[in-house]
Amino acid sequence: MRKTEPGWEPAELPLPCLADYVAERGPGTPEGGMLARRLEGLDDEQGARVPEGLPPVVDAHVHLFPDQVTDRLWAWFEEHGWPIRYRMSAPRVVEFLLSRGVSHVVGLVYAHRAGMADALNAYVAAIAGKDPRVTGLATVLPGEEGATTILEAGFDMGLRGVKFHAHVQCVAADDARLDDVYALCSERGLPVVFHAGREPKSPAYRCDPWQLCSADRVERVLRRFPTLKLVVPHLGADELSAYRMLLGHYDNLWLDTTMAIAGYLPGADAEPLTSYRPERLIYGSDFPNLPYAWDRELGIARDAGLDEQALTAFLGGNARALFGIAEQQVA
Ligand SMILES: [Zn+2]
Repeated sequence: MRKTEPGWEPAELPLPCLADYVAERGPGTPEGGMLARRLEGLDDEQGARVPEGLPPVVDAHVHLFPDQVTDRLWAWFEEHGWPIRYRMSAPRVVEFLLSRGVSHVVGLVYAHRAGMADALNAYVAAIAGKDPRVTGLATVLPGEEGATTILEAGFDMGLRGVKFHAHVQCVAADDARLDDVYALCSERGLPVVFHAGREPKSPAYRCDPWQLCSADRVERVLRRFPTLKLVVPHLGADELSAYRMLLGHYDNLWLDTTMAIAGYLPGADAEPLTSYRPERLIYGSDFPNLPYAWDRELGIARDAGLDEQALTAFLGGNARALFGIAEQQVA
């Protein structure tokens, strides 16, 4: 469970266990959550290409929903979240990123009700099947009938992991209904990407993310399933320091930085990227559901003070190792 890589020194680690960790609102996190009020978009300038001088970029957090789901998702965001700057269908999303110099895309979907996972999985698998530079992940609604069978069918179609979203699916990371899925993914060596952080919370969700999500619930999963590869997006916002500590302690945890380094979400200013365990940090964008320029966080990553090795790992190497993305799959 301890870190194994040489050259990385845990700064301050008052663990072994986060069970006593007292959850506090992040600095400036508004009462009622980051989405207590709808946020404004940024009119920041976008680049034509991946910023000059960056190592190969794997965008490990891209949404590839079918149009009819996308339409409803965007309507929700426009009312409760933020304005969507890039309104394009999933095939166009892939083309947009790859044509601008992104080397590989990891596509995510999630089912918000029972019975829709098969169709979503088939949709992502079809897109990934057309281009080796796309890796698709499967979805299932936790607790729905035949959940592991649905996922196995997805894996048979070439999908390379599972995405869960606590807020949308109303499920906690340590919910017993997920045990079979965790066991299956451990056995197959396939990662689970789980939006298990409490933010961005919206009062418009059917459940309260602050009731469902906490870093110590995630720690329970890491302990119970030591060979499960678990990725928590958004640096675990807004429990940033708790997740940074977990990252130092558990070899089966990764964090993606999606939207968390943009300086956009209220109260979620990330700690310096140099303070994170470098081989467990993954870049992702949340494209196309963005209120700001598609390359905003790439510019910030470039200027984050990471050395070349750490930057190369963060922007692509770590994701390639985690999702099993081969040399010939990066453009
Ligand atoms: Zn996302």
